Amino acid sequence: MEYDAIIIGGGACGLMCAAQAGLVGKKTLLLEKNDKLGAKILISGGGRCNYTNLHTSIENFVTHNPQFLHSAFSAWSVQDTIDFFATYGAIHGEEKTLGQLFPASNKAKDIVAVFTKLMYQTSQDVWLNTDVKSVQKSASGYLVSVEKGGERQQLTSQSVVIASGGLPVAKLGASDFALRIARKFDLSVIETAPALVPLTITGKDAAWYAALAGNTIYCKVYNDKISFTENILFTHWGLSGPAILQISSYWSPGETFTIDLLPDASMDSIIKVERNQGGKRTVGQLLQTFFTRKMTDAFAKYLPVDVKIASLGKNDARLICDTIHKFKVKPAGDKGYDKAEVMRGGISTTELQPKTLESKKHAGLYFGGEAVDVTGWLGGYNFQWAWASAYLIAQSIPREDRQGTCYTG
Ligand SMILES: Cc1cc2nc3c(=O)[nH]c(=O)nc-3n(C[C@H](O)[C@H](O)[C@H](O)COP(=O)(O)OP(=O)(O)OC[C@H]3O[C@@H](n4cnc5c(N)ncnc54)[C@H](O)[C@@H]3O)c2cc1C
Repeated sequence: MEYDAIIIGGGACGLMCAAQAGLVGKKTLLLEKNDKLGAKILISGGGRCNYTNLHTSIENFVTHNPQFLHSAFSAWSVQDTIDFFATYGAIHGEEKTLGQLFPASNKAKDIVAVFTKLMYQTSQDVWLNTDVKSVQKSASGYLVSVEKGGERQQLTSQSVVIASGGLPVAKLGASDFALRIARKFDLSVIETAPALVPLTITGKDAAWYAALAGNTIYCKVYNDKISFTENILFTHWGLSGPAILQISSYWSPGETFTIDLLPDASMDSIIKVERNQGGKRTVGQLLQTFFTRKMTDAFAKYLPVDVKIASLGKNDARLICDTIHKFKVKPAGDKGYDKAEVMRGGISTTELQPKTLESKKHAGLYFGGEAVDVTGWLGGYNFQWAWASAYLIAQSIPREDRQGTCYTG
């Protein structure tokens, strides 16, 4: 069988690429090493799949080259994502929070079902349990070596799409395949790191954090690059929760970030008002109006919680304001690729054509999705990139002159 392209990876990018190729009459072979398609989609968003974000713009992505994203997002917008799933799966999005769109059914499997149906209808071929071992250039395009059912096979195609994702969560099929192929083809790779990942605290502060395990606080978490105002969660080993996952994409080992534990009020003004009212309450009693009992008790490590506000010195008042609004955190590390939602870094965008995602050095070799140095924030942005990059690639793959494969609906 002659294929217009061999797509490696049956995740978000590979599935959308095969479906879009099928819709314009192209014929692809999708290779996936798992025994099912879309393993990450199925567990995404807690099994509900946050499939896009209404507020997507290039500011929501970590990449060395933000301008690179313009082509993809003008060719395939958030509205295109919404329309695609509505048209081919009767999926209607429900906004949960901050523009995050989920299928109204709350079922990630409905998203995967759209692709399996479309690929069947457009006669795309899918091989599951197929581990791609290597890709080499050949006289007729590319030679793809696979292992399937314990046997080695070699396939050829003019175009190969590397949609094998990034390093997070090996048990869902994640591999370094894309990075290995990029290096083999002499393409530069931006250093990778876990992103959207919980952060660990060790050493003398560890017990303080552990004592607060289970407490959630609405905070502003910031550093000199960015700020996020969402919940943080204390855990037995450090910090998690949406605001921590977000800042983790802008944090590197050794760096400190700051937490404003009371972002919607000014501790300075609160102390002044309390003083004007006689200042009879202690610092602890005052703090308890804003924080849980457990959190207030924990503040005793840093603050004079038993002192009455009326007798609070200037330095202590400053210490309270700084502790509440400028709480410094220096994580020991992160929870690693098994707990990360995405990978930061990847194939450098400078190696790819922005309008097609084809390698500039190797015609017919495409990279999409998480393998590329484009990392979205938490909240549906990573799928939006996977869909958009897949769309560009699907349009760009040259189509063999063949009859009878065009989708008629
Ligand atoms: C727990 C979790 C929850 C998430 N929730 C969300 C969310 O709600 N919204 C959002 O936008 N993003 C979410 N993400 C991120 C999102 O899942 C990824 O960004 C997205 O799946 C990337 O798509 P991809 O196609 O590039 O890679 P993947 O979806 O990872 O697909 C790559 C596929 O390639 C296969 N593969 C790898 N190597 C080979 C090989 N050698 N041969 C054959 N096949 C191979 C893998 O098995 C895998 O199926 C979540 C991630 C995780 C881990």
